[in-house]
Amino acid sequence: MEILNVKKLSKKYGKGENEFLALNNVSFKVQKGEFIVIVGKSGSGKSTLLHLLGGLDKPSSGSVFINNQDIYKMSDKNLTVFRRKYIGIIYQFYNLIPVLSVKENILMGTTQENVRELDEVCRRADIWEIEEENDALSLSGGQAQRVNIARGMLNKAPLLLADEPDAGLPLAQGEIIMKNILSSSDTVIVITHHYQYLDLFTRVLLIEDGKLIADNAPEQIKSHPGYISWRGEVD
Ligand code: ADP
Ligand code: MG
Repeated sequence: MEILNVKKLSKKYGKGENEFLALNNVSFKVQKGEFIVIVGKSGSGKSTLLHLLGGLDKPSSGSVFINNQDIYKMSDKNLTVFRRKYIGIIYQFYNLIPVLSVKENILMGTTQENVRELDEVCRRADIWEIEEENDALSLSGGQAQRVNIARGMLNKAPLLLADEPDAGLPLAQGEIIMKNILSSSDTVIVITHHYQYLDLFTRVLLIEDGKLIADNAPEQIKSHPGYISWRGEVD
């Protein structure tokens, strides 16, 4: 079953001589049950793409269909309701509200029904040493990341989008949490800079200068010149 259809998606930032094409005519489809990882150099357009998949921004052209619904044809109000039901998001820069407690941040925007999942979600995000009543402001980077992850998991949305959820976490902890993220939703799309995690996924999308330059299984992509260039000289 097709859950996502991205058609000729482009995004320009700025105007006139400051205009910059951050995403350039990207198309792909995703079936329910796929675990997709998006890789590419810093500034290549990965977050721009993920934001557009999550209904967080508006494309300059092209469309995004989720469950056969054209999300950018919806009213803002309908899109908000739709997002809550269908899309979980783990943000690159945490997006926590500093004055709210850890618990309030995790429960933000969720339904009453999901509140009982709180303990399970905290376990999956490896939150054990943090006091739930503390302000988010008091958290370290790694702790804020794990709270961000718990919040994104809580809605059990059919489509989970995660922008570098492993950033700021030690590699071993990142791997455990990455596996938990993948088991939290039917279909998951993750951005990561860690090639060590690639084999956890069923499909790799490689982005370069706003373009989708490769779309392969992990074992196939490793010989792609763009992949080698993304990884640098690291072995
Ligand atoms: P990545 O996530 O791959 O590092 P981004 O999608 O964040 O890349 O950014 C792609 C390009 O678009 C970068 O050159 C970035 O500077 C630019 N960009 C991102 N967001 C904005 C914005 N709101 N306004 C202007 N330029 C932006
Ligand atoms: Mg990014």
